Amino acid sequence: VLREMQKSAKPIDRDSFTILECIGSGQFGTVNKGVVFLENQSSICAIKVTKMDSGDDILKEAGIMQSFTHANVVRAFGLCSDSGDIFLLLEFCDLGDAQHHLASLSQSDPVPMRIKIMILEQVACGMKYLDDMKIVHRDIAARNVLLQTPNSHNSVVRYKVCIAYFLHNAFLCRPPRAKVSDLGLARELDEHSQYTKTSQSAQLPVRWMAPENIMDFKANQATDVWAFGITAWEILSNGMMPFESLKNKEVIVLLTNPNLNISTYLMKQDHWSDDIYRIILDCTAFEPDDRPSFDMLINDFTRIVRNLGRL
Ligand code: ADP
Repeated sequence: VLREMQKSAKPIDRDSFTILECIGSGQFGTVNKGVVFLENQSSICAIKVTKMDSGDDILKEAGIMQSFTHANVVRAFGLCSDSGDIFLLLEFCDLGDAQHHLASLSQSDPVPMRIKIMILEQVACGMKYLDDMKIVHRDIAARNVLLQTPNSHNSVVRYKVCIAYFLHNAFLCRPPRAKVSDLGLARELDEHSQYTKTSQSAQLPVRWMAPENIMDFKANQATDVWAFGITAWEILSNGMMPFESLKNKEVIVLLTNPNLNISTYLMKQDHWSDDIYRIILDCTAFEPDDRPSFDMLINDFTRIVRNLGRL
């Protein structure tokens, strides 16, 4: 494991960071807020903690994330191993994940449609970047889209000022920054086969999985586009669970039926435009070749946002 760690990501000394409160729990351990001191500067960060013996995915995640720099992909500072624990230090996203964030706001302070579409545009940009890097994410979902207050600054001093000033208004007027996270399941695309195999034993996010992914465990850009379509539906619905009335087993039966009419299950709400709902239906086309690319999706979102701006 340690050898893998050295290959995969920048080592960080245990004395260079402090763990503050726990902010979430993942499949392999806890996620905490913390402070890291690097290059003469203290920054707020998120710290994923896992046990050394279940740290394989976190090492892969760290290796993949650390080699990327994109505004819409969560950045990794580095990894630390100490007393049997592995710590993965990540850029901090103060608003948490999109699913919880939108669900918590939906009653009191509904997020405007334009903002939600701008979040989706950013997710599509992050996914296009991963695609250009030949990475298949394999677990894109609203829970794995993290949000950051616009203009937030994670340096400790400025953070305290910014958080109070921007938190409420900025979110309603301007979109938060959206970042693709949780690359624990991500894999490099096999150049020869255009597919990467999904492990049959891992816990699978079936509600976000394309039919061909469920049937023979194949994942590629088109299966990420399907999952993006489901993510778009979740975000527009303020974090509702896709196929909520069905059990996982029933979802599998449903999604593998070629005569599936997905609009019966991922329903359009009255205030959604036909344009935006069309994107969800295109992404969830049964045939992978009928789905759009992330490039096409970015163009669609940009056009829709521009048109909304004119209203
Ligand atoms: P796992 O991959 O182990 O399932 P996740 O990456 O999904 O863990 O993280 C679990 C939760 O922790 C997320 O839903 C989110 O609320 C929080 N979280 C994770 N990473 C960050 C981060 N970089 N900034 C802020 N919150 C985060």
